[in-house]
Amino acid sequence: MAEAQRSFQDSQNGEKLAEDLKKFLAMAVEMGADDAKIIGREDIIIDERIVARCYSPRCSYYNTNLHCPPHSWSAEETRHIVDKYQKGIFILLKVPPEEMADPDYDNPDKHKIPGAMKMYRLVAAIQSAAFYDGYANALAFAGGPACKRVFCAKVECSGLTPKGCRMGQKVNFTMHGVGMDPIAMASRAGWKVYPIGKKTKPEEIPYGVEMGLVLVQ
Ligand code: SF4
Repeated sequence: MAEAQRSFQDSQNGEKLAEDLKKFLAMAVEMGADDAKIIGREDIIIDERIVARCYSPRCSYYNTNLHCPPHSWSAEETRHIVDKYQKGIFILLKVPPEEMADPDYDNPDKHKIPGAMKMYRLVAAIQSAAFYDGYANALAFAGGPACKRVFCAKVECSGLTPKGCRMGQKVNFTMHGVGMDPIAMASRAGWKVYPIGKKTKPEEIPYGVEMGLVLVQ
């Protein structure tokens, strides 16, 4: 017999939180994550310097979509929001070096980024599962690049118009776009992240990384 639907009140008391976090962690791995960790609010590192880098040197996605600065939350706003949560799932996805180390990275006709798309989908799926388990405020953050590059590279952002984001619940802020420091958080989680830029040769790095976060309660 199928498990009865829980109410929000059934989950608010926190009795099932530990069990549910393990379930969401397993879900991340089943969906293809290379690792996932249950983390506490204290493990979420927020640093104004992360958002500062969107402004200078100016990222090409700055002010192009709803989920990037200056439209996303400031580091200070993020700190206030994260402070309301106790626990979340931090997710690691390794991607082939070629996906990230490519001079045509920003050209959707020449370069595909399936790992980035996968992380957007993965965190949205866990956010949705948590909601239906009664965690009304479950909140997901994707990894790298801007949603504009992943979903809307050839069209204008509808999220900045009265129509709203055409991707609806499938898209969330990125961690770095709201001032979280995924690299510092990876260090705490015991994960290695390699610097990748236009000068990087794929054969010089073992893998690229996408990281995502779902705050559960
Ligand atoms: S419409 Fe596209 S670019 Fe704009 S917020 Fe939604 S996914 Fe991002």
